[in-house]
Amino acid sequence: MFLKGKTEVIELRAHHLLCILGFRGLGYSEEFVANLKKIITVFRVDGNREVRLIHWCDDVCKYCLHNIEGRCQKKNGFAENSPTMMDLNLFEKLGISSGTVVQFNRVMALIKERIDLNFMKSICRDCEWKNLGYCEDGLKRLVSS
Ligand code: SF4
Repeated sequence: MFLKGKTEVIELRAHHLLCILGFRGLGYSEEFVANLKKIITVFRVDGNREVRLIHWCDDVCKYCLHNIEGRCQKKNGFAENSPTMMDLNLFEKLGISSGTVVQFNRVMALIKERIDLNFMKSICRDCEWKNLGYCEDGLKRLVSS
């Protein structure tokens, strides 16, 4: 698994912050789910844990079948809504740049402040998990917390 030391900075592509909000144990494979659960548990135990936010393959992608030699091959309908574009759109909305290192709780506070359902519906429009409604529910929970 990805964690080698207690202080290792976890790398997350920006849009995975939204995926984490909606995670209910589903994913591309058992390994993928186990790894994502482990990452989420780290943040539950220590919300101040630092993350490096990026727009390329991250610690979640490590166990994804769409990750071919470190590059995401997932086709999200149109190129303008690729996983990379989802990351870049979210960065713009949050007012931070790729490569930023931030505490998990702080970036979640920023999401609570700046991301609404319409924005989520727009950037997640081609995601295969979107219609389950889990991520929208997760954002609603965050906003009302
Ligand atoms: S689909 Fe792409 S962005 Fe999503 S986890 Fe897999 S490799 Fe990463």
